[in-house]
Formats: sequence, C-alpha cells, structure tokens
Amino acid sequence: MTIRCYHCNGLLNENDMVIKPIPLVCKNGKVRNYKRKFHMECLQEYMKNSTNREIRKSENDDWSKVYEYYKREIMRYPETSNLSTYEVRRLNGLRVGSYMPNGNTRIVKKGYSYKTILLTMQFSKSAIVRYIDSHKFHDGEHKINYVMSVLGKNLDFIAEKMRLAQEIGEMTQGNRELIEYYKRNFDEYIKENSISGTFRVLLKEYGEDKLLEAFKLIVCDGRAMEYIKAIESAHRLNYIRKIVSEDKIPELERKAAQRKKQMKAVSDMEDEVTVSATKYKRKGGKRHLDWLD
Ligand SMILES: [Zn+2]
Repeated sequence: MTIRCYHCNGLLNENDMVIKPIPLVCKNGKVRNYKRKFHMECLQEYMKNSTNREIRKSENDDWSKVYEYYKREIMRYPETSNLSTYEVRRLNGLRVGSYMPNGNTRIVKKGYSYKTILLTMQFSKSAIVRYIDSHKFHDGEHKINYVMSVLGKNLDFIAEKMRLAQEIGEMTQGNRELIEYYKRNFDEYIKENSISGTFRVLLKEYGEDKLLEAFKLIVCDGRAMEYIKAIESAHRLNYIRKIVSEDKIPELERKAAQRKKQMKAVSDMEDEVTVSATKYKRKGGKRHLDWLD
C-alpha cells in the first residue's frame, strides 16, 4: 500500500517517515488524537504553521470568503441560510484534493488554498450560474455535485495562473530593487573613481547611457544579480562586455518583451474576474472582492 504524507500528499517511504498524533475535533465536539504520517521536514513545517496565529487567521478568513461566495454568488441562497454539512464537506474536499474529507482541512500544503478556490469560483461563476438556471436537477445534491465538478476541473488552471502571477510579481519586485540598486551605485562608482580599469574601458567604449540601458535590459532578463555583482568584481567584467556588445542586446530585448506578454495574459485574466464582480455589484449585489483589491 502506498503511504502519503499528511501535509504534502507526497509518497512516503519507511526511512523518512515520522508519525505524530494530531489533535482533531470530533463531531461530538471532543478532541481526539489521530496518528498522522509525515515527511520529517513536512512535520516541522506543519507544526510551525499550525501554531502561527496569523497563518491560522488568514486561512480562516479565506474559508469564510469561500463559504460566503459559494452561498450568495453561486447558489444564491438567502443571507440568513447556512450551508448543509454536505456542501461544507465538498468545499473542504476541494481544499485538500479529496471528495469528502472527514477531519482537518487547514494548514496542510496538499490540495489547493482557499484563495485558489475563491478565485476559481469567481472565474467559473457565470458559466455555472447560466447552466444551473437553465437546467433541471433531480435534487439538490445533484446540483451541488455539478457545481463541485466544474470547480474541481478549473482548479488546476487557476492554480497555474496564480503561480505564474506570483512568480512575475516577485520578479518585478526584485527587478525594481535591482534597478534602484544599480542607479544608486552606478553614480557612486564613477564618482569615487574606485572602479577597475576594465570598467572604465567599458565606459569609454560604450558610453554611460548605453551602459545604463544595457544594465536595465540585463535586469529584465531576470539574472540581474549575477551581472550587477560583476560590476563589483573586476575579473567578471568581461562578462559585462559580452552583454553590452551589440549582438546580445536584441536577445535581451526579445526576452523582456516575452515576459511583458506573460504578465499581460495574467492581468487580463484578473480583469475578467473583476469585471464579472463589478457587473454583479451593479445589479445590486453587496459582495466585495476584498482580496483581489
Ligand atoms: Zn510531505
């Protein structure tokens, strides 16, 4: 039988497996310990996160948003209603990547975050609503199953977009800092005249403007730190020379344009989601997409 890690759902073998009793609240309200199996490093991460108040709070807040959005926007139940246990368990099933989980669905790394589930609901809303408004279902459960299956199918797509958006966000932030760093230091290097002979030769060969332009492009290339560091070490200056030379610049420009295109694809998708929420608001809805703002 294959054994999987409680935290990451990855495969476990006997050698790197640790067993830890995890306290869980049972249906009758009593707390019982359940033995769960982890990778060593996954247990450390799980224990660290489950005692972190901010992480717990943010996950609970995200869950509330998922609950409310499903209730009011997808199923359009009255404000005063509560979701059935079946619906709650199916929604939590999306969180941990199983059909109807029995116990804890928080903190674990496996599955999809509540943020991903919320965005998937926002993304899928118009298609789901159109379908459930124009079809007859045998019963309530049949309808819920339909909704869950659409969400389940779209989760991977949204998770991938979110991963890409985060990557681009981090990269852009990193680049901004590096451009600042470079601008700050560039002037100082020249002023202090402590730069190496090779660097001065480069400056003479290409001029300050061109050198600055080249460094900006290098920064867009995402490998900036390597090159920026090269300014500081004389023996790597030939590397910069290669980059600054004419034939390297178009290549860097092409890469920068490619990255811009990726960023646009992600922001288009986010716009689409925001637009559908705005439309709803115009129709008199009160819900607000606070986490997208
Ligand atoms: Zn693991």
